[in-house]
Amino acid sequence: MIDYRSDTVTKPTAAMLDAMFKAKVGDDVFHEDPTINELEHFAAEMFGMEASLFCSSGTMTNQIAIKCHTQPGDEVICDRTSHIFQYEGGGIAFNSGCSVNVIVGDRGRISAEQVKAHINSDDVHKAATSLVSLENTSNRGGGSCYDFNEMIRIAELCKQEGLKFHIDGARLFNAIVAKKESPKQYGEIFDSISICLSKGLGAPVGSLIIGNKEFIKKARRIRKVFGGGMRQAGYIAAAGLYALQNNIDRLQVDHDNAQKITAALKAKSFVDEILPVETNIIIFSVKNEMTPKLFIGKMKEHNILMYPISPTQVRIVVHLDITQEMVQKTIQIINEL
Ligand SMILES: *Cc1c(COP(=O)(O)O)cnc(C)c1O
Repeated sequence: MIDYRSDTVTKPTAAMLDAMFKAKVGDDVFHEDPTINELEHFAAEMFGMEASLFCSSGTMTNQIAIKCHTQPGDEVICDRTSHIFQYEGGGIAFNSGCSVNVIVGDRGRISAEQVKAHINSDDVHKAATSLVSLENTSNRGGGSCYDFNEMIRIAELCKQEGLKFHIDGARLFNAIVAKKESPKQYGEIFDSISICLSKGLGAPVGSLIIGNKEFIKKARRIRKVFGGGMRQAGYIAAAGLYALQNNIDRLQVDHDNAQKITAALKAKSFVDEILPVETNIIIFSVKNEMTPKLFIGKMKEHNILMYPISPTQVRIVVHLDITQEMVQKTIQIINEL
């Protein structure tokens, strides 16, 4: 199978499994797991921030951050396609009792001007705006990346208005590699950063929430309340540490492969709009007699899996288990369609 449905489908390599097998572990609820402590320290340093917390999923790190930054009745500003709003089971309302003020952004990206227009005035009729959340890269935006200067403008606005600033960085390293940025730049402007180890970085499980000491202390308490306190989880943290130490630079290979597949798609008359491909995600719509279901069915006959992200669009996600041979075979099948 050549599986482009998501970058979550990767399996640990022999080297990663070896790191997991050799991990030193302890009870993390007692702060006694040396591998988790090392991973949390490593990630915090990487972003130039004080502390971080290892969690089971990106949904959990996002939801913990939202809970930390808000009070029930507050309002969160984000793009309407955001994972925190669309794909976390209504968690913002369920866990934090907050409403959401959504912005119609540009491929998942919102501007400082738009944020400004969505901040509620200090009026008893209105929910108190307390948090702005960005997503980089944007999943529904087809892996689109922010312009760093726009994020700086939003950070300045948040500071002026007394709002917290969070980033859902499930694929942050894809943006960092594509835009030649550094993690420390993000550490300087965000109050909290969520990163996924189980997407493009190839670990089987895990996410990290990164911030200052006070925030992480609160996050640790909320993680426990959410049932997310883990014990000898150093075995999975070892995979995350391995991923951060070995699998970031190679994301460029995935981006290059995505470009090769995009070029093949562009030549097909049944392919309609392809969202600009900036990283490892390709989202395109089909036309004429073709439907996403039909296209995905034809690919599946050749053991190639893709995902129908909307009734008119197909999503392809390239990741580290996709080899050059697989890309060549995919291009050949597309050419023959
Ligand atoms: C995958 C993803 C998450 C987290 O998902 P989990 O499956 O809970 O780890 C968060 N945000 C975005 C944009 C994602 O793509």
